Amino acid sequence: MKLLAPSKVLTIVCMIALAAFAKDEIVPETIPQTESEFSGDTLVDEADAGNNPNAPAEIAENEADSSDNGPEMSQEEADAELAADMNATDSAHVDSLAKLVLDMTTAFVPSESRRVSAPYGIRTYRMHRGVDLGLCHGEDRTIVAAFAGVVTKVRNQGRRRGYGKYVILDHGNGLTTLYAHLASWKVNVGDTLQAGDTIGVGGNTGRSFGAHLHFEMKFNGTYIDPATVFNFEQGTFHNALTTIEQQQLLAVEGEFQKELAKHRYYKVRRGDCLGKIARRYGISITKLKKLNGLKGNMIRPGQVLRCS
Ligand SMILES: [Zn+2]
Repeated sequence: MKLLAPSKVLTIVCMIALAAFAKDEIVPETIPQTESEFSGDTLVDEADAGNNPNAPAEIAENEADSSDNGPEMSQEEADAELAADMNATDSAHVDSLAKLVLDMTTAFVPSESRRVSAPYGIRTYRMHRGVDLGLCHGEDRTIVAAFAGVVTKVRNQGRRRGYGKYVILDHGNGLTTLYAHLASWKVNVGDTLQAGDTIGVGGNTGRSFGAHLHFEMKFNGTYIDPATVFNFEQGTFHNALTTIEQQQLLAVEGEFQKELAKHRYYKVRRGDCLGKIARRYGISITKLKKLNGLKGNMIRPGQVLRCS
């Protein structure tokens, strides 16, 4: 048997190491994700459907959540599943000094839509982890890859569950992107895509009320507001060469978490009373009632109360 040249051996070792890294490394979140992406999405999707985003429909939608595991709004199974998916596809450790340099001149806005129906950020009391682009009837609903990359996930969470049909791409530089609520996909796991290649057709699957694309970006496990990179209204980008620093992303995330921590909410369960909930949060019944504009002592299961 012929011996391999040392350089070849090194190359092979590197490839194996890289493959193992990409496949098996589950990168822990440095910042706890206490808020549901899906529900956040649902809130704004109500807006998509033409409803007033501040209408009581928001709360009603959250009351429909069946899970309730504690005083904080609990993550749904689907959320955990998606978070695991996204973590599994993160291609590197969270390194606060890491930088992502994107040549935006080769990037594509993933949809023809120029209508941001919901931005990234806090919706009521949860994080909406992506940008929603409304898709109207008659419009081209083709969804394309924002950057060149490899398909790492093609999944269907159900017609009315979670993100419905979604696709995750790994762009090899620590960046992953997610495209959700698709009507259908045209890619398979392992496919290599160029920026602008078709992923599928946008739709209304999962917990979505009105056809739209939910688009997420993550760098080394930390979310990026896609609007800091893309100018969705114009169908273009902000800077030809965009540098994203992990440290900045972590700082922004920290601010969101701080803001969220200010407003803690509790979903009333059967058998609860105001006194019990007030005790749980270390506040008086009077304060609890004031925070929620309650006149009497009546609360009902499923009702969402602000508790701080
Ligand atoms: Zn969304």
